[in-house]
Amino acid sequence: MAGLATGAAVTSVSSQSVGKDVYLRANRPIGPGTSGPILDIMTKHISDRLAPFGESIFSTMSRLAVEYKAINLGQGFPDFDGPNFVKEAAKRAIEEGFGQYSRAFGLPETNRAIARSVALTAGFSADPDREVTVTAGCTEAVAATLLGLLNPGDEVVIVDPSYDSYAACVAMSGGISRRVRLEGPDFRITDALLRPAFSTRTRAILFNSPHNPTGRMFDDDEAGVVARLAKEFDALVLSDEVYDQITYARPHRSIASLDGMRERTIVLGSLGKTFSFTGWKIGWAVAPESITRAIRGAHQFLTFCAPTPLQRAAAEALNTICEDDRYLIDLRRDYSDRRAFMLETLEGVGFRCIHPEGSYFILADALGAGFSDDVTAAKSLVKAGIATIPASAFYDQDNPDRRWLRFAFCKREETMREARRRLNAQPLSLLAKSAH
Ligand code: GLN
Repeated sequence: MAGLATGAAVTSVSSQSVGKDVYLRANRPIGPGTSGPILDIMTKHISDRLAPFGESIFSTMSRLAVEYKAINLGQGFPDFDGPNFVKEAAKRAIEEGFGQYSRAFGLPETNRAIARSVALTAGFSADPDREVTVTAGCTEAVAATLLGLLNPGDEVVIVDPSYDSYAACVAMSGGISRRVRLEGPDFRITDALLRPAFSTRTRAILFNSPHNPTGRMFDDDEAGVVARLAKEFDALVLSDEVYDQITYARPHRSIASLDGMRERTIVLGSLGKTFSFTGWKIGWAVAPESITRAIRGAHQFLTFCAPTPLQRAAAEALNTICEDDRYLIDLRRDYSDRRAFMLETLEGVGFRCIHPEGSYFILADALGAGFSDDVTAAKSLVKAGIATIPASAFYDQDNPDRRWLRFAFCKREETMREARRRLNAQPLSLLAKSAH
């Protein structure tokens, strides 16, 4: 019943608006009348570990985008489909009967393809059967790694602004987050900033480059700071490299390729960003065998295995880019064009922007544009028809920077044109003045 009603709502909204159809096809819009009670029920039953985290900002903003019929430049998902050859591979796998569980840590051909692509992108060879675990997206890879490695009270250093699942997964694993705040507009990692967060209790640091939400690609000096501290304090590095192919400044370099880092780094990646299939949820963790055993120990009880037919398609996708770089060249060219268009739009209406070196996000200065903080700006913009992410959600809530708004530009040209039209429709200074 609910499914039928939802289907009708989805069709009617998606036919009226630009750029939301992909999201709407996959998500049940929650109306203003239902969000209150749902959140109340959540508050009543939720565990103490999770209570501080509330609803993910990505769900909140996508819900508001639907509610206000806004162009969704918030949650980072493409509003276009991934390549046909990968879809065809998935369809074939379904037709050919790959409908049952795979080996828990991945189909042999998928593990092999991941090892092959990691050799190219991260620059080291990994044993597909002993060092690669296929997971349900990189988010599960982060969770399985932390759940597999942490003992109660172990500390994990998180570099803020950071993706919201990191701290939540540390908490779910019984660990303690030590959060370090990078300062914009440079968002540089230095030894002076990071060192105070390390101690004999430090088990790991979460490192992400290209970085969500700043678009930074931390250079060799910055990665070197992380590597030195990890070695000095015998900590592991969880390296989230999901944007490794979406780069503008220079090719990505994995921290695992720095001297002595392979043995203490877990390279985390996914299919979602490179192939524009964020909903397929195929990810991986690549790590030395003893660490991999810990990751698999948790993974088998979380999801057991990732979806089998999609693993088949992932193998084909990864093998293809290992053999021929045309797809990746086109991907980077398209994203460079989108990046230029969105920077021109945002700077054109008076936002000061961080120019991303990688990823598909732009941070814009909400305070500089006259808003009192990022949440006020996001509320005002979503009512004006543009959904964004207030980047204060990426910080320790005791010490957030409320300056930045994140715009995602993994969108079709028509979506971005409509966003530009809406942004140009009223001066930003007026929006800021009337915002509260
Ligand atoms: N990684 C995506 C982003 O940063 C969102 C993922 C999610 O919705 N959990 O926007």
